[in-house]
Amino acid sequence: MKDKSDNKTIGVIGSGTMGSGIASACAISGYRTLIYDINADILNRSKASIEKEFARLKEKGKIDNARFNSALRNLEFTVGFDKLSECDIIIEAAIENIDLKKKLYKDLNDLCNPDTILATNTSSLSVTSISTAVVNNPSRVVGMHFFNPANIMKLVEVVKGEFTSETVLKTVSEFCITLGKVPVMCKDTPAFIVNRVARAFYGESLKIMGEENIGPKLIDEIMKDEGGFAMGPFELMDLIGIDVNLSVTKSVYEAFFYDQKYKPSPIQQKMVDSSLLGRKTGQGFYRY
Ligand code: NAD
Repeated sequence: MKDKSDNKTIGVIGSGTMGSGIASACAISGYRTLIYDINADILNRSKASIEKEFARLKEKGKIDNARFNSALRNLEFTVGFDKLSECDIIIEAAIENIDLKKKLYKDLNDLCNPDTILATNTSSLSVTSISTAVVNNPSRVVGMHFFNPANIMKLVEVVKGEFTSETVLKTVSEFCITLGKVPVMCKDTPAFIVNRVARAFYGESLKIMGEENIGPKLIDEIMKDEGGFAMGPFELMDLIGIDVNLSVTKSVYEAFFYDQKYKPSPIQQKMVDSSLLGRKTGQGFYRY
């Protein structure tokens, strides 16, 4: 594949489920990629899993040796926030919490060049609200909502906040294309397009499970075998992370002024309280 990176450096904040997938997509597409996390153990796990993925791609013949080596060289893992000053585009994939994100964006505002594009991978929070923490040129704050697994899924919702400039939207869309992704423009409404539609997919499945005493396996099988879905709702919640999914539901519920149709499920809250978070903890609706 031709390198379309234009010598840009990409920063990724958070090396969890999404940050790892996004960093992997950037590095393999030829971008120097700095991955920053506050947690060194999570960073190490992210490094190991991305390296394993690249090795698998090489084994399968999907990338040659030169591309394998350059993708590895493109990656840099750090707990040093200041390193992010070297980046042209920063994609933030830290946890789904508005106060935490605003604090991060204030720090990025103070650290980075005013032209550095600041893209949030938030699933549901207001891009406009996040951008208010960037007093120095808020027009560079944009949503870049990748889907899980981010190294594979093609769709990226590019979200225009109240202050996002057309130039930034164009740059980010072109950047998505260099990653082999399909950008789709969205307004800054709670949960954008896919996650808003998906609230009913998860919410109604949880209600059916609670009200009709049907196990997750049967519901997943029906949705896949008869509904044609690639994954059932419970498998997908386990992949996303029960904590992440619950945070998104809570923020959508709040953003729509507590409309009952978005009401979070006590089943999910109980699982979060018990640290049954899905694949990442080895148990959610299923055991891994
Ligand atoms: P995760 O819990 O797997 O990872 C979050 C990471 O952020 C952790 O490694 C944590 O150490 C790190 N972190 C926390 N505070 C930080 C800080 N101040 N600075 C730097 N790093 C920090 O979560 P995730 O599933 O990767 O989700 C990340 C973001 O992506 C969220 O906004 C989420 O809503 C969004 N998202 C998630 C999915 C999904 O399927 N999981 C899909 C699309 C978007």
